[in-house]
Amino acid sequence: MEWKNKSDVVIVGGGIVGIATAYYLALLGRKDVTVVEKGTVCNGSTGRCGAGIRAQWGTEMNCRLGIAALDIFETLEGEFGMSVGLNQGGYLLVAYTEKEFENLKKGMALQNSLGIQSRTVTLAEAREICPALDASDAAGFTYHARDGHADPFLTAFAYLEAAKKLGVSYHRNTECTGITVRGGKATGVDTAKGHIDADVVINCSGAYSQIVAKFAGVDLPNWGERHEIMVTEPVDDGVCPPMLMSFSGNYYIQQRPHGSIICGMSPAGHPQDFRNRTTWQFITEMSRVLNKLLPVTKDIRVVRHWAGLYDMTPDGSPIIGETDVKNFYHSTGYSGHGFMLAPIAGKVLAQQLTGNTPDIDLSMLDYRRFARGELILEPNIT
Ligand SMILES: Cc1cc2nc3c(=O)[nH]c(=O)nc-3n(C[C@H](O)[C@H](O)[C@H](O)COP(=O)(O)OP(=O)(O)OC[C@H]3O[C@@H](n4cnc5c(N)ncnc54)[C@H](O)[C@@H]3O)c2cc1C
Repeated sequence: MEWKNKSDVVIVGGGIVGIATAYYLALLGRKDVTVVEKGTVCNGSTGRCGAGIRAQWGTEMNCRLGIAALDIFETLEGEFGMSVGLNQGGYLLVAYTEKEFENLKKGMALQNSLGIQSRTVTLAEAREICPALDASDAAGFTYHARDGHADPFLTAFAYLEAAKKLGVSYHRNTECTGITVRGGKATGVDTAKGHIDADVVINCSGAYSQIVAKFAGVDLPNWGERHEIMVTEPVDDGVCPPMLMSFSGNYYIQQRPHGSIICGMSPAGHPQDFRNRTTWQFITEMSRVLNKLLPVTKDIRVVRHWAGLYDMTPDGSPIIGETDVKNFYHSTGYSGHGFMLAPIAGKVLAQQLTGNTPDIDLSMLDYRRFARGELILEPNIT
């Protein structure tokens, strides 16, 4: 890819958030966009995620983003002429106490008021949706049929190919090592391959975003948190078509189209490190949970097990918008839901930066909300 020392917009971080943002910027008219990625495409959290997509959220902002993201995912194959591996088997949320079920129903009422057609289901219906399920100890379930998952690699590469066709430059193995600020404005980035002057710099560096923000003297409250995930050998079709998820049960479990089961849980102690290390404790505990919920999985083998980073914020909601340094924007802090939100977040930020009216007003996701004490606490996360 040809190297240029000047670009209208430079995006730091070439995961799904950076790539989708670049695509929508180019689509909406800002053609001179450069993405600098310190590794390769999908080498960050995007290539390590569970890739679930849902609209069953507990805050209005996440519900609006979630359903808008689903609307986009449903059109991507047509738009790109490439598969993104979208599979809509729904999300089946499981509550284990009456109180938790009441909270899920509260979330469902909010979702329904925003046009999201989630509903409660009985244990018998839950078993129709997920035939191998053993959840007789559950207090209740909610379900939204349009939820599901996509393939993170196919999605990222489809966005990237489309972005390149619109003129976006994507530089792999190009670490951003500094951000130049003059007169309170970001004016460019230093990289391992040289300096690029820029009118706008966008920080999309995921779990590394607090480090990149610091290059411009901006303090973000984000931190990286290591999460593990595993995939099994294939089992019969139809064992677990929906994403089974419980916030108190601390799990997400789903069968992929080729039959394997992918599952994860939040780690004990919430380790804050960048090592992507895996542990036996995870396999042991995750297998116990999987076997209890889906007894047919008892003797199957784990094929692969890996770790990746959640880019956490104090309220579990993302940080999107400009900082005190002018022309320096952030689209970070997506915790465990940045894959699904990337299309809509990228589109809305691009609308903002091209003078279009944003589909959704994201001003409350400004990073100053932490200083103001206006946290957007999302209940529907593990
Ligand atoms: C185990 C696990 C399960 C998950 N499950 C889901 C799920 O089911 N659904 C969902 O929506 N989300 C899920 N997520 C979260 C999701 O993966 C992330 O929110 C999403 O991928 C964030 O995308 P991103 O582009 O911000 O980050 P990344 O994909 O991490 O991209 C950031 C990029 O920035 C690059 N970078 C960092 N520093 C620099 C620098 N100085 N210079 C240049 N480049 C730099 C990195 O190399 C990286 O490629 C999961 C995450 C994990 C770890």
